[in-house]
Amino acid sequence: MASVGNETIRADVLILGGGIAGVWILDEVRRAGIDAVLLEKRALGDGQTVASQGIIHGGLKYMFDGHVSTSVKAIAEMPVIWRECLGGKREPNLSETAVRSDCCYLWGTGSIKSRVFMAGSTIALRDAPEAVEREDWPVALREVKGKVMKVPEQVIDTVSLMRNFSKRNRGRIFSSANIDAKAGFYIFAAGEGNAELRKGLGLSENVMQRRPLHMVMARGNLPELFGHCVGGAKPRITVTTARDAGGRNVWQIGGQIAEDGVKMSVAELVKHAANELEECVPGLRLKGVEISTYRIDRAEAATGTGQRPEDVHILKEGNVMTVFPTKLALAPRLAQRVMEELKLEDRESKIEDRNGDRRSKIAMAQCRRLQNRRGRRRRNGSPRVRKNRPEGEPDLLWRI
Ligand SMILES: Cc1cc2nc3c(=O)[nH]c(=O)nc-3n(C[C@H](O)[C@H](O)[C@H](O)COP(=O)(O)OP(=O)(O)OC[C@H]3O[C@@H](n4cnc5c(N)ncnc54)[C@H](O)[C@@H]3O)c2cc1C
Repeated sequence: MASVGNETIRADVLILGGGIAGVWILDEVRRAGIDAVLLEKRALGDGQTVASQGIIHGGLKYMFDGHVSTSVKAIAEMPVIWRECLGGKREPNLSETAVRSDCCYLWGTGSIKSRVFMAGSTIALRDAPEAVEREDWPVALREVKGKVMKVPEQVIDTVSLMRNFSKRNRGRIFSSANIDAKAGFYIFAAGEGNAELRKGLGLSENVMQRRPLHMVMARGNLPELFGHCVGGAKPRITVTTARDAGGRNVWQIGGQIAEDGVKMSVAELVKHAANELEECVPGLRLKGVEISTYRIDRAEAATGTGQRPEDVHILKEGNVMTVFPTKLALAPRLAQRVMEELKLEDRESKIEDRNGDRRSKIAMAQCRRLQNRRGRRRRNGSPRVRKNRPEGEPDLLWRI
């Protein structure tokens, strides 16, 4: 039970990091009746989750990357699970999350490679893209030559997703700056922050890799667009649309352009983006459209090759679990896997209880080191529980 008044929270499970991995795990674990709390260092989703494009990928994404086998199977179920949650038909009920689009479109540049890829995707995927009648094409794609297809991948607003989880778990999410916490089991779900957390416990940091992106944003008189322009076996651009405070459409643009952009300066990428947009979206008028960029790293389990991992990742060392969802879309799968591990842990600890040795030596040592670190921080005068939090004020302050 959390006891904020005493400035220390105690729980069976403590989750560090409030991106999609942490909040979904918190919700899943609490629904299973386990006492759990989450500590976030900055603001919920402040790492990759809120910066992401919010596409609930099915197998198509992995076809783009050429991992057709394992990964396609791993991710194929996800759009169905999310759709049920977003529709309020399954727990966690995410019906307060805004869905920006119910599907993504897929279109080509007319190259033979893109046509081969689009034809292949209709055969290989469970939820295969379907051809769209020309009169139903989105306004932005009216001048595309060739086919426009529709993929049942929803696009969500990740800020409202974080609010939805925050509301469902009110009173169990705290700012790590203000709270001291102790638990029997620790889950590190801090994205790139996992490296620092692991270092603090003397655990190897080499279990994580960063894959950089240089994303593009375009703002102005742009039509709404959600989807992938296929140039070969990769999406040249992946576009999602949001609205800014002035009601203007903002295109968030990833795909190959964001990978290629890593080596480019801002000015080079802005120029490249304008060319790519003109080639990929025929007839698009860029007059008056502002283009900017941002850099961000994807933090995921190290694969050794630098490639994207094929699935979610869980590393269990004593009473510490380090987790990476690999994709936002895979969060439900990660949470289910964590629950399986916790159930296993519970069974094992009961057996160990009978043998009079509740925790393994490594877990005890890790626990002590974590607590000693906290003790040191406290002596150095780090802030503690934020007292007198007004009734109804969210657990965390929102940056955006
Ligand atoms: C540009 C971009 C676009 C993407 N688009 C998509 C997409 O369309 N679809 C998709 O499925 N995936 C997408 N992804 C991948 C997806 O965003 C990530 O896989 C997912 O968000 C990772 O979630 P996470 O919870 O592991 O990490 P994060 O979202 O990074 O969250 C980690 C959290 O931990 C906190 N933290 C850090 N250190 C500490 C600490 N010491 N103590 C407590 N808290 C700490 C951070 O503040 C942060 O809030 C995209 C990624 C990027 C970068």
